[in-house]
Amino acid sequence: MANKNMKHPQNVAGKFYCTDANDMSGQGCISCGVCYSMAPDHFQSDDMGAAFVAKQPVADEEKAACKEAMESCPVSSIGDDGE
Ligand code: SF4
Repeated sequence: MANKNMKHPQNVAGKFYCTDANDMSGQGCISCGVCYSMAPDHFQSDDMGAAFVAKQPVADEEKAACKEAMESCPVSSIGDDGE
């Protein structure tokens, strides 16, 4: 489970979010690059390589791309319950 109490500070507001790398529960981003390689329109990396949501999905295909990235995160750092 992602941790919506420890969101990356650069996430845009909305449903999808990335968990901050400093999260102590083990769900923090490990900067693997999967999400921002899979869905670069929605996920970007900060200066340290950690991911944040740069654009929330609107269209169905955008939502599907974000969901696929979320399900591909190896440490379950991405959540979709951010609202
Ligand atoms: S897939 Fe997960 S661990 Fe990898 S960069 Fe994205 S949020 Fe971080």
